[in-house]
Amino acid sequence: MKLSEEIALGRHLVTPRGGNVFNCAIGMANLAVGERAFTASEHYTKLKQRHPWIMKIQQGSCILCRKEFAAPVELLYHLFDVHVMGMYDGGVMNPGCPQIISFEDFLDRVAAFEPIEQPEPELPVIEVLFEEKVAGH
Ligand SMILES: [Zn+2]
Repeated sequence: MKLSEEIALGRHLVTPRGGNVFNCAIGMANLAVGERAFTASEHYTKLKQRHPWIMKIQQGSCILCRKEFAAPVELLYHLFDVHVMGMYDGGVMNPGCPQIISFEDFLDRVAAFEPIEQPEPELPVIEVLFEEKVAGH
């Protein structure tokens, strides 16, 4: 499943809150696939296991405020905390944030930077031949 799809599912499982990995986009994505994490670092580890690209060093900037990032994960929580929840980076409310976007806009922006999903590799067909055993033979 794509990260944006996980977040879309997980948003119904927690109360969205910024500055808090359990209730932000990362927590939502993990909950959506049934992952349980008890620390922030467990959350990041589980996210990375499913979406290794999220931690890859890759320079980029936020399309809304031009803040620069070194990895997609930084952009992910920045978009959520700052532009959905209306906080400053770091989790303090920013009542004057002029660039608030809706949750749907946020999902579209995540979808725009996540890799195009590779089709699932087809499982090899394992042929199991049963020898018919007939009683008496
Ligand atoms: Zn921004």
